[in-house]
Amino acid sequence: MDTTRIRRAQEAMQAEGIDALLVGPSPDLRWLVGYDALPLERLTMLVVPAEADPQLVVPALEAPRAEASGATAYAELRPWEEVEDPIAVVRDLLTATGSPRVLAVQDQLWSSFTLALQQAVTSARWVAGSRVTRELRVVKTDDEIAALRAAGAAIDAVHAQVAEMLRPGRTEAEVGREITERILDDHDVVNFVIVGSGPNGASPHHELSDRPLAEGDPVVVDIGGTREGYCSDETRNYVVGRCPAEYAEVHLVLEEAQRAGVAAVAPGATAESVDAAAREVIADAGYGDSFIHRTGHGIGVEEHEPPWIVAGNTEALRAGMAFSVEPGIYLPDRFGARIEDVVIVTDDGAESVNHRPRHVIEAG
Ligand code: ZN
Ligand code: ZN
Ligand code: ZN
Repeated sequence: MDTTRIRRAQEAMQAEGIDALLVGPSPDLRWLVGYDALPLERLTMLVVPAEADPQLVVPALEAPRAEASGATAYAELRPWEEVEDPIAVVRDLLTATGSPRVLAVQDQLWSSFTLALQQAVTSARWVAGSRVTRELRVVKTDDEIAALRAAGAAIDAVHAQVAEMLRPGRTEAEVGREITERILDDHDVVNFVIVGSGPNGASPHHELSDRPLAEGDPVVVDIGGTREGYCSDETRNYVVGRCPAEYAEVHLVLEEAQRAGVAAVAPGATAESVDAAAREVIADAGYGDSFIHRTGHGIGVEEHEPPWIVAGNTEALRAGMAFSVEPGIYLPDRFGARIEDVVIVTDDGAESVNHRPRHVIEAG
């Protein structure tokens, strides 16, 4: 855990004129103090004042979990008993040295808590917590890049075993269960397992079904987990047996599109230019209408986070940003294909954290 994160957040708050940042169970809480708090009706809240030491308000019965997480290295624990009002506890912390004028509340806090806090601290104007944390999280530190590389290697190791799992007659769900186990060999959490066989591959977020695999089926396999706090996310396409000629043709277009997307990554390039580079290849091949989603999403402690690699996002890429490049072609009722790597922006281009072959793998 990086001991400078709280300090960097406080510097950002001082620069923005924000008096305190309030963080409930969320990726920001994990990022700031390493605590994966349960999202409960009982309030857990990290209170980070711009100019004083952070306090972690937790239900007393959660205090052992909070301590075990190591969060107490960064924040003083303030357990509250069942008969206490946690909103009043937070209010008292916020008003101890005067009336706060601007408070930042973490973007994913339940509205029930946000509304109660707003009623309890009426002096403040409220802003989104991402005003503080987005900039800090979007450019990864060397430690974070190392963690993303390790997660990338871990998911590569799972993909290396997928071909032997794909046999005619096995269902997507059976394959999915086996993949889930293999992900857990070197991840702490499984975030998703997509096995889209035949026509199911044409739905980008199809997960698993009881459809049995058949000879000649294309299979889109998109899998990811969390390893030591950082996420993996990798898609490859397989065929049960021999690859049909039309699928091979579509797949070659996709390989070129994915390469073009990665080749467009560089510091100073816009996020939308990466999307455009991949999309142009697909459109030129006549499949423009079949590429129905953005080209990628940032990744870190969250599976999907900024920057968004999408038309209209003119944000300039910076060295240390991490995101997926995952163009897809989807032909409804027939098949789909998507190739996805997570890349990190380097000083002069991109480094992929995934290294599995990107061509279609014939299984069996
Ligand atoms: Zn997705
Ligand atoms: Zn994915
Ligand atoms: Zn993805």
